[in-house]
Amino acid sequence: MSAPAHVVGGGFAGAAAAVALARRGVPVVLWEARAAWGGRVASFTDARSGERLDNGPHLFLGCYARTRALLAELGTGHLLSFQPTLHLPRFDAGRAAALHCPELPAPWFLVGGLLGLPLTWADRLRLLAAGHAIRRPVAPGLSVASWLAAIGAPAASIPLLWGPLCRAIMNLEPAEADAGAFAAALREGLGGTAADACLGWSRVPLGDLLEAVLEDRLARAGGTVRHRRVARVVLDGDRVTGLATGDGETVPARRVILATGPAHLQRLLPAHPALQGVRQQVAALGAAPIVSVYLWFDRPVAPMGESPFVGLAGGRVEWLFDRDRMAGRTAGPGQRLAAVISAADAVADWDDARLVAATLDDMAVHLPAARGIRPAHSRVIRERRATVRLAPGVDRPRPGAVAGVDGLYLCGDYTDTGLPATIEGAVRSGEAAAAALATCGHLY
Ligand SMILES: Cc1cc2nc3c(=O)[nH]c(=O)nc-3n(C[C@H](O)[C@H](O)[C@H](O)COP(=O)(O)OP(=O)(O)OC[C@H]3O[C@@H](n4cnc5c(N)ncnc54)[C@H](O)[C@@H]3O)c2cc1C
Repeated sequence: MSAPAHVVGGGFAGAAAAVALARRGVPVVLWEARAAWGGRVASFTDARSGERLDNGPHLFLGCYARTRALLAELGTGHLLSFQPTLHLPRFDAGRAAALHCPELPAPWFLVGGLLGLPLTWADRLRLLAAGHAIRRPVAPGLSVASWLAAIGAPAASIPLLWGPLCRAIMNLEPAEADAGAFAAALREGLGGTAADACLGWSRVPLGDLLEAVLEDRLARAGGTVRHRRVARVVLDGDRVTGLATGDGETVPARRVILATGPAHLQRLLPAHPALQGVRQQVAALGAAPIVSVYLWFDRPVAPMGESPFVGLAGGRVEWLFDRDRMAGRTAGPGQRLAAVISAADAVADWDDARLVAATLDDMAVHLPAARGIRPAHSRVIRERRATVRLAPGVDRPRPGAVAGVDGLYLCGDYTDTGLPATIEGAVRSGEAAAAALATCGHLY
């Protein structure tokens, strides 16, 4: 049996890398600093309610092919539910403005959906032409806002469609986000089959998608897991020779995939001129926050229709999720909601009370039953480094799978996947790093 490969970080990128190596018969040691798997797709127990909450609601897309394959291999793929057709319900001051795509083959499902938006006929036709333009290459360095202007997207469609999509996909406002990564995500999500475009969610706490099953899968291929913090990669000249742990041990390691987020990566990389470029690339990326506000009400306040989530127009809260509907349960007498504020730079430093009040204010604009009501319990979660900040022209500074010294590989949603920082990008990057490691024959 060959010497083990080490994967540092048990988020979706690290899990995908470890499973891909196990599939190739490479024994893996998977290191994770925290007690739980999943990284930024995580769950924890809320002390007051006793319920397992996620670090924020996550949506999957039908086109997350590698993520779905990973979860299917781990035996948890069936815990995701997907819409039968793309449906983006949205409360807009009393009007239910929704992108609802009919169950038709591509591209007619999208044509039908776009034509149903509350726009003038002239704007609908302009929107169709703009929708067609997502297939064309995007000039480097453009922001989403400039790109939308260049492809002739009508102004009225920005708050209705493109703005919410940009904040959901890029976690940035259209003026701040890179058009190349946004268009790549749209091409995959909307430019494929009708099933690719459907949104999905987990019926169980997100942490359960990897918990236990990941360890079992690796163990079957002779791998092990270690819940310990790795402090640094150890080099001898230009070659990786070990991993120094947080408690002072150095473990021999010749092949290492670093699957941490970009902030942690900076601390793990040893001082070596060949790694300077990666350091600078990662430092240039920056981070964008997401705030989630969990609310427990003693009566229903948000009529969700058939959907487990609904958009709110015009305020700070982008999406409301009904947690019982997500779990496939009939709601009890009350309603348990999670409100998501994406691109949350302006509010991430607000205290909990102010964030809850702002969420209730946004709900009150659209939902009469929410006016004047106080939640029985609330819980605010700030993810300050939810995603990297993919600013215009960012593809140059994103590192690839090969780090620059012998035996060291990188993966994570921040790497050069061509996609925004998403679960699917993380999984693909993990598989790419595993392939790069496994094809370096001289290391065996
Ligand atoms: C609130 C929120 C909502 C989101 N919504 C969506 C969504 O709807 N759809 C979507 O596709 N994406 C969404 N994302 C983005 C998605 O969660 C990330 O892109 C993805 O999880 C990143 O995975 P990763 O494996 O690259 O990194 P991470 O998940 O950050 O994994 C890195 C792991 O490395 C571990 N680690 C770090 N340092 C060390 C060390 N020294 N030693 C050992 N282990 C270490 C960490 O503990 C962590 O587990 C959201 C993110 C957040 C925060």
